[in-house]
Amino acid sequence: MKTASRWAIHVVPGLNSFAYGRIAIQGDAAHAMTPYNGSGVNQAIEDAYVLGRMLTHPKTTMETVESALKAYDSVRRERAQGVQELSLQLGRLATFTEDLQLQPGADPIAVTAARLEAAGIWVGEGDLEDDVRKAEENFTKFIAKA
Ligand SMILES: Cc1cc2nc3c(=O)[nH]c(=O)nc-3n(C[C@H](O)[C@H](O)[C@H](O)COP(=O)(O)OP(=O)(O)OC[C@H]3O[C@@H](n4cnc5c(N)ncnc54)[C@H](O)[C@@H]3O)c2cc1C
Repeated sequence: MKTASRWAIHVVPGLNSFAYGRIAIQGDAAHAMTPYNGSGVNQAIEDAYVLGRMLTHPKTTMETVESALKAYDSVRRERAQGVQELSLQLGRLATFTEDLQLQPGADPIAVTAARLEAAGIWVGEGDLEDDVRKAEENFTKFIAKA
């Protein structure tokens, strides 16, 4: 082979948790995704931010760290896996393989463009500080139950 111009893109299928006891995973280890919306790195950074905030929380100790990691998982998994799914959908839209379920007379190009635009807005929305607050609330609940 003179040139290697094709390679496989491996993804992590939807995991049930990003935290297992005192072990947590983040970034591509947790949610490696297709590259179609260029969001793998930002999801890894969002993970790192929430995880860092939970690990430095004043109530995080050797006894409570499992609850801290569970709280990280409770806010990050749904979002990261949503972006993963969106990336797959964008790949289908960009290659015209998405089933658009068009109404009669609808313009497929206009529908595709609108979906691509809407997807970009969703990824950009959300407030990471809100996610941290939610994780902190869950942390308190998990400690109380443990
Ligand atoms: C083709 C393609 C295009 C992409 N384009 C974009 C884009 O435009 N925008 C975007 O945001 N994202 C993009 N991504 C995704 C992005 O590259 C990843 O989401 C991101 O790099 C994940 O970061 P990470 O730190 O979790 O993992 P990685 O970047 O994979 O870092 C893991 C590191 O751990 C090291 N390592 C592995 N095993 C060991 C070990 N046993 N001991 C020590 N070190 C080890 C590896 O060498 C590596 O340096 C793209 C991905 C692909 C495949």
